[in-house]
This record gives sequence, C-alpha cells and structure tokens, in this order.
Amino acid sequence: MNSVTVSIRVKNLYYIYNPGTPFQRCAVDDVSFEIKSGEFVAIVGETGSGKSTLIQHFNGLLKPTRGQVFVDGVDIWKKGVQLKAIRQKVGLVFQYPEHQLFEETVFKDVAFGPNNMGLGEDEIKRRVEQALKMVGLDYKTICDRSPFELSGGEKRRVAMAGVIAMEPSVIVMDEPASGLDPRGRDEVLTEIRELHREFGFTVVIVSHSMEDVAKLAQRVIVLHRAKLIADGPVRVVFGMEDILNKAGLEAPQITRLMKELAGRNMKVRTNILTVGEAKQEILKALRSEGCVS
Ligand code: ADP
Ligand code: MG
Repeated sequence: MNSVTVSIRVKNLYYIYNPGTPFQRCAVDDVSFEIKSGEFVAIVGETGSGKSTLIQHFNGLLKPTRGQVFVDGVDIWKKGVQLKAIRQKVGLVFQYPEHQLFEETVFKDVAFGPNNMGLGEDEIKRRVEQALKMVGLDYKTICDRSPFELSGGEKRRVAMAGVIAMEPSVIVMDEPASGLDPRGRDEVLTEIRELHREFGFTVVIVSHSMEDVAKLAQRVIVLHRAKLIADGPVRVVFGMEDILNKAGLEAPQITRLMKELAGRNMKVRTNILTVGEAKQEILKALRSEGCVS
C-alpha cells in the first residue's frame, strides 16, 4: 500500500467511555478502514452507533482505547507527533458548529483559527477571504456583520469557513445539514459538494439522511452498535437491504420506488440513487414498451 495516497486510516480501533466504571460503554468496536485522498465518504448509522466518537479520532481529539490512527501514513499517537499539525491537516466541523461562534464579527470568527496559528495579518485576511468564498459567502458584504444576525445556513457556513481557514486537506463534518430549514440545507449541501468537486478536499460527512448521502457521497461506511457492518460504493451498499435493515436505515425514497416498480414488472434498474437517474430509467422502460416516443 502506498502511504502517500492514504489520507486517514484507522486500524483495529476501540474506544471505551468511562472504562472500569458501571457506566463503561464501548462506542467504537474494532473498526478498520482507510479513506484515500480526494474521496467523499459518508458515515451512517442510528443514533448512538458511534459515528461522532469515531470521527473525533481522525484528528486526535479522542485517543483510542486500543488501535491506531494514521494521518498521511503517520501514526498520530506515536511519540513525538505534533497533534497540532494533525488538527491543522484534518479539519473537524462539529454538529451545530454555529453554537461555537462567539466573536462580534464574521471576520473575527473565521480568523480565530489562523490567529491561533500565529500567522501574519495579511495571511489571515487572505485566508478569511478565501474561506468565506469557498463556502459561497461574499467577503465584503459579510465580514463586518455579527454572526448572530445571519440565517441558519449562513451561520453554519461561517462556522465551516472557520475550519477551512486553517487550510486542512481533509474536512470532516458531523451532521452538516441537521437542524436547518430546507433553504439552509440546500445552501450547505451545495457548498459541501463544491468543496469536494471544485476545491479537491477529501470530505467525510456523518449523515442521517440517506437522500443526502446518495446525492453527495461516493462511498458509505455503515456503523451498527459500534461496529462497522458495511463499507463500499453508495450504489452497492444502498442495494443491500439486509444491511440497511440491520442498521435501522432506509434506502432513499427514490431507490425504494424503483424497487417497487421493478417488483411490479417494470423493466427498470433498481440501483438508482437520484430522481434524475430514475427519470431516465423510467422513460427508457416506457419507450421500450412503446408507451412514449
Ligand atoms: P452517534 O454519533 O452515532 O449518535 P456517539 O458516538 O455519540 O454516537 O455515541 C456512541 C455511544 O457512546 C452511545 O452509546 C453514547 O451514549 C455513548 N457516548 C457518547 N458520548 C459519551 C460520553 N461523553 N460519555 C459516555 N458515553 C458516551
Ligand atoms: Mg453523533
């Protein structure tokens, strides 16, 4: 294996909360996988399956009870490794990150990380400007505003910009669209797609929405009771009904609809992920039966 192309790797990872107490809880149970540079991976599973605990290992926020975490080939818990450098490479956006906005202007909030890195004023300004642009916000109109007067989608994107301003190569986001209104969701998801497609970040999202995963991710990792039970291309994993059932998840509505149609003898593929694909497939089937021209 070429370590240069590997961005994050976890190997036989275990994490136990409150070990040796009556509250002991194994939240990550012998999990192994690697995420390559440039991938877009979604981590899914029911509430309590260990998603948030797992991703906090990617940048060394949590220390494994057992097992290893590698970032760009480096065992991050090996003696002498600077966790600060790891946290700069792997940016972590928490769930509801806007709760951590606290400065009086958007500029100051986004500049917080770069400031802590000890960068010069010009470099900080360059980074803030660039980070806001990357999340689809206009620097000039937003930089002096208070984060608290922004819309939900804007606030969340400001919080994302705060992480991007550290110039990580991997961005890990915990439920990036949860709790937003439909417009805010669209804004945030569009920008996340762009971060991957246009700016080339490696992206890992935790998501509850199989619809969002189908639209965005290339690969999906399924957790169930702290264990990894599936890891593969979204199209393949979303076709594994037994796995989804076990994990308490449902394939996207459109995938289920196509299965229903196929079950009623319509000649359509069932490994469909988006409405656009479904439309093509249904038209093809109708044409072949001479129903439409
Ligand atoms: P998810 O993000 O998939 O909802 P979590 O990683 O938050 O799952 O939680 C996994 C398990 O660990 C759950 O059983 C949860 O109750 C437990 N847990 C999470 N955080 C803590 C904590 N700080 N202390 C003790 N147990 C925790
Ligand atoms: Mg969580």
